[in-house]
Amino acid sequence: MLLQELQPQLGREIISNGNHPSIFSSKNLLADTTLTSQIVLINAQGVALASDSAVTMGDGRTFDTVNKVFSLGRQGKQWKHHIAFMISGGDSYTPGSILWERVIGLFSKHLEDTAPDLFSVNDYVDQFIDFVNNDSRLNIPTQNDIAVQSDLLNWFEDIPPVASKMKDSSAIGRLSSLVDYGAVADLDNVSAAVDERIEAFIENFLQFISDVKLDRANDNNWTQRLLRIESENGHNSRTMARAFVDSLQLTPIRESTRKLEEIFNFHLANSYRDFKGRNHSVIAIAGFGQDELVPMMVELKSGSIIDSQYGSIRIRRRYELRLQSNAYDHGELQERCDECGTELEPRVWVCDNHDPPRHVTLEILSAAAFLKPFAQKSEIQNTLNGFHEDLEFLYEKNKFPAVLTKKIEENIKLEMANIEGIGPRLMDRIDKAFAGHITEGMHSFIALELEDAIVNHGWIKRRQRFRNVVRGLPMKEMETFAKTLVELQAEITHYQSKIRGVGGEIDVARITKEEGFVWVNRQ
Ligand SMILES: [Zn+2]
Repeated sequence: MLLQELQPQLGREIISNGNHPSIFSSKNLLADTTLTSQIVLINAQGVALASDSAVTMGDGRTFDTVNKVFSLGRQGKQWKHHIAFMISGGDSYTPGSILWERVIGLFSKHLEDTAPDLFSVNDYVDQFIDFVNNDSRLNIPTQNDIAVQSDLLNWFEDIPPVASKMKDSSAIGRLSSLVDYGAVADLDNVSAAVDERIEAFIENFLQFISDVKLDRANDNNWTQRLLRIESENGHNSRTMARAFVDSLQLTPIRESTRKLEEIFNFHLANSYRDFKGRNHSVIAIAGFGQDELVPMMVELKSGSIIDSQYGSIRIRRRYELRLQSNAYDHGELQERCDECGTELEPRVWVCDNHDPPRHVTLEILSAAAFLKPFAQKSEIQNTLNGFHEDLEFLYEKNKFPAVLTKKIEENIKLEMANIEGIGPRLMDRIDKAFAGHITEGMHSFIALELEDAIVNHGWIKRRQRFRNVVRGLPMKEMETFAKTLVELQAEITHYQSKIRGVGGEIDVARITKEEGFVWVNRQ
């Protein structure tokens, strides 16, 4: 099948998934604003959740009636769970294309039937992960195949030489279908250059794979995983390899297909637990387990199953509410080791309390209150942090700090050249010193200082003030504040873009130990 035919078919599968709106932008399947906006506020009293109810289809149609917050169990029943699920990203569980509301409904029934111990929110999470991975109704191999193929398609067509070939091909197609200008534009030469780059990319990649294989020859887990993925997903790699060989016109066909297949299997073995660039949903599970007196929240990511031993879900972060531990504890955000609970250096995920120091893969956040937005959140974060993500280039190392370093260097050298006694030979040595280490050192220093000023002294401090406020808010106020923040995102987004992706009525719910899950405002 041609990639062009395959693409709309795959596109439909993820049409309501807004995590990576740019992926299909060439086909205009997804709008800019397919994202939803949500927030969870947590303090010792309970949880307030707010979510907009809009969903934007790829063609720009928007529906305002989609429920993205779910409770467990029906009212009046014996089972009363103090738990909410809030979901953004895709509207379905990927490995079976089953709507999330149906999945949650089945899970709720499953809990009724099996009555497991649910002492903590973590117990709910473990039960949920087990349930979705093992219930055969939810896992439909053909649906998962489509999702894995779509993940491969999204990844590979974004690789620069591949992307430019696809762009060139469609441009050439348009040009020659309009008028026969092919000869004038020397189209053969244009495509030849791109073809060479694709070929070079493939060869480099294969070299990289054989280096890694050599490097990891003794890593049994890795070798087993690669074998497992070849047997479970080899057919998906092959399907996509054929589609790309066809649409990129790679030759010889059989050889090129084999090469791409190897690259795709390798990529899957590397990305089985990483959802970056893959279609996925984000699930927040918040509330109280039976034994818990303060609420907590767990954030999950869910997408296609690449490695059956790993399943479709990854626990991304745990949010643990911290009661004041001493007189100096102001309830600020701390990152902790998930094994021993040691507080970690911010954004350095290594725990020194182990020998050798342990790399911490699961983020545990601890604070006296949380304000956690999901999905589309730029305006919410701007309000809470006092710094808009549009300005992040200011402290990203290779952006503004690099430009600033270069300007400073040029100016210093200009000034120096004018100082009496600095002749061409000395200037030459100065140039070399700049090239040797001064520029590099200055660049790191500037980037670090800017980041420290903006992040540590800017937005973390401002956010802590909001955290302090939320820490003491009554439930009613917390519900209103949550709703206000989501409304703010919806309104600003509305005035910024043509397509209204965030919006509709805003659903608000609360969870307290006393009342359980309660809808405050639901359309
Ligand atoms: Zn530790």
